[in-house]
Amino acid sequence: MRRRPLHGLVAGGIGLNNGAMSDGSLFSNESQGALFEQPEAWEAAADDRLVAQVVVNRPVDRVFEYYVPQPLRPLVQPGTRVKVPFGRGNSTTRGHVVRVVDAPSTRHRLKEIAEVVDREPLIDAAMLELTRWIADRYLCSWGQVLDTVVPAGVRKQAGTREIVRYTLSELGRTQLAAGERFPKKQAAVLAELARTDEPLDVPHLTTAADCGTAPIKSLAEKDLITPIRRRELVFDEEPLDDAKIEPDLPLSDDQDRALSRIVEALETGEHRTLLLHGVTGSGKTEVYMRAIREAVSYGRQAIVLVPEIALTPQTIRRFRGRFGRVAVLHSHLTDSERHRQWQQIASGQVEVVVGARSAIFAPVPQLGLVVIDEEHETTFKQSSTPRYHAREVARERARRAKVPLVLGSATPTLESVKRARDDGDQYLSMPRRVSNRPLPPVSIVDVRDDPHLRKGHAVGRALANAIKATLADGGQVILFLNLRGYSPVLWCPQCSSGVECPHCSTTLTWHKDREQVLCHSCDYEGPMPERCPGCQDAVPKLIGTGTQRLEKEVAHKFPGARIARMDSDAMRQAGSHDRTLSAFGRGELDILLGTQMIAKGLDFPNVTLVGVIDADTMLHQPDLRAAERTFHLISQVAGRTGRSDRGGRVLVQTMNPDEPVVQLAAAHDFKRFAQLELGSRRSGHAPPFAALARIVVRGPDEAATLAEARRVGEAISKAASETDDGDSPEVRVLGPAPAPLLRLRDFFRFHLQLTAPTVDDLLALWRKVEADVQPPDPIELTIDVDPLDMR
Ligand code: ADP
Ligand code: ZN
Repeated sequence: MRRRPLHGLVAGGIGLNNGAMSDGSLFSNESQGALFEQPEAWEAAADDRLVAQVVVNRPVDRVFEYYVPQPLRPLVQPGTRVKVPFGRGNSTTRGHVVRVVDAPSTRHRLKEIAEVVDREPLIDAAMLELTRWIADRYLCSWGQVLDTVVPAGVRKQAGTREIVRYTLSELGRTQLAAGERFPKKQAAVLAELARTDEPLDVPHLTTAADCGTAPIKSLAEKDLITPIRRRELVFDEEPLDDAKIEPDLPLSDDQDRALSRIVEALETGEHRTLLLHGVTGSGKTEVYMRAIREAVSYGRQAIVLVPEIALTPQTIRRFRGRFGRVAVLHSHLTDSERHRQWQQIASGQVEVVVGARSAIFAPVPQLGLVVIDEEHETTFKQSSTPRYHAREVARERARRAKVPLVLGSATPTLESVKRARDDGDQYLSMPRRVSNRPLPPVSIVDVRDDPHLRKGHAVGRALANAIKATLADGGQVILFLNLRGYSPVLWCPQCSSGVECPHCSTTLTWHKDREQVLCHSCDYEGPMPERCPGCQDAVPKLIGTGTQRLEKEVAHKFPGARIARMDSDAMRQAGSHDRTLSAFGRGELDILLGTQMIAKGLDFPNVTLVGVIDADTMLHQPDLRAAERTFHLISQVAGRTGRSDRGGRVLVQTMNPDEPVVQLAAAHDFKRFAQLELGSRRSGHAPPFAALARIVVRGPDEAATLAEARRVGEAISKAASETDDGDSPEVRVLGPAPAPLLRLRDFFRFHLQLTAPTVDDLLALWRKVEADVQPPDPIELTIDVDPLDMR
């Protein structure tokens, strides 16, 4: 026999469950003997050399081939991990099997797989293909993607324990059949095993035979029974109870219309992307839940992506209140909790998976619907390799699974708006809040001449008065400031510049709580410098207000008020986020101040005033999306008020009161904003009208790094001009220029921007030059397709 189909091998199942293995190492080559007892089968297939194609978590996007040793064949399947010889000497590494083929694709001598790590594939064929797509789309290696998709807890099999079960061996069966006699307790064990084909565990056997473990041990030593060892999850099943399901709310007309469109899409059995543009408080979550109910009623599962910070008890409670079987994937799960959830999801027990970005990889067996809430959030893009955007991955996964993708937001990205306008996505609009509540009035407060600000305060006169009135009225206040720390700038008056981190070109921030200066770009933390490190002379000054200083100022101005601060410093303890929000919800706090953490998703009816301390922080970022982000932020923060009959209002402090973005956000005029901004993006050949990739070249020596960045730029320009058909340049190369964050962790950074009409043009060009532009050590190059972070 030359070839055997792989399926035959797998189904033939020498595998894991029928007792071939003897111990934990039995997945390795060393235990061949334990696995195979039939020399015939062994010889018959000796010239039949199966080859596994393996990818590893390295930056090279290549498939490596290895022979599969005979005894490992049943275990080596696409989606399982293996240990393979890799690199020099005897070193090995772990890799993922992506394909098993009959013959090597080259004439090189192949090495053999050393060990099989997983007893079952970690991911299925569809997910394997999706990860290949991600590697292509985001220009990284397949192995890097696979290690991201499978959580560490699953890879490590966290929370499992080895369970031993026994079956009758051939010998035992023969001797029983021959009427052999055994000591009484041993006979009872054998009799119990003879009753079933199921392997039985020790507690079962000792109970059935009314014995201790000694008879079992003796039988095993005489090879009359065979142990089967399996690692199994040991934790108790999380109660997935269907108990207290809350009734649905009667839908508003807008909600009803949006829902029917989604249900129509579900019924087509085709993929469609629907953009649900609903103002804050229009009841988008209710629409998602009803659509999910529909998908679940077909026996399918739904994935709901939310920004990490929206994974509040509030959100979770809403989903748990409507669906019995909800898995929540948040970043505080332990490895074993994550592993258990993965297993529950893969088994199909879970109806709804709610989680942040990486939940798009949840192994639901029958995907029915994907929802991305707050689709405009930048956290859906991963900022390290693989730099994927969960929205694009969701789109591709939904397309392959032929199911709808719903993108929800009050302030959708221009990418999504354009696709709905020009590219066939469906646009669903919910322009009104539920119960016909109005959107809150937003006042722009020009603080250029504010008497309080001139004295160095952050809360101007108008906002201070509004807070006072709100507190007197028993209302609650949210104050938003996008700068953490006490004082965001350490300033040298003599050098007229900020005092920078020793490792980065980032101005240091004073953190009063720790009595330290911190760099917000790296992990640097140090004592306050007594003299400016630049001039060695002047004493640095604290300039500006971060959330810590704001807290102090507010406490001073409103002595009776109960205040909490929410930012990543104050919320470092697990659970503190939830505790603060719950206390605020119960009315035990009057003022909640903080960073983005409080801008999104919160739904507290008693909040009647929202203050934006400084609308300008986002506006002047060197970023093509600065205007868009400013609009998002003002709209989202404003959305936190006016959520009950008590009404609410918003004050936005700015030094740029005439800025169109600020005015349009204040007027809740998304449509006009989108028109304007799309117009300027179009004329600037910027996304979403062009594809963009950003290359960062970084190295310890500034001049050498710049020289290398230039070489990279020239190589790409050359390749681009060769591709060019003459009329207009297809791919444009901009730079190299110093990155806005020139120095980071002692590395100098230069960046290049590539733009092209479509992402495929970009990818094709990159593949042409990739091998030629790899910089020499220690200089590094990264490429980010559809970058969101331009620092
Ligand atoms: P969004 O996500 O669009 O900002 P939410 O889904 O958070 O809005 O809904 C805002 C509030 O309105 C929530 O308290 C929700 O329970 C409530 N709500 C949603 N739909 C309805 C409805 N049809 N009738 C009454 N209340 C509703
Ligand atoms: Zn730093």
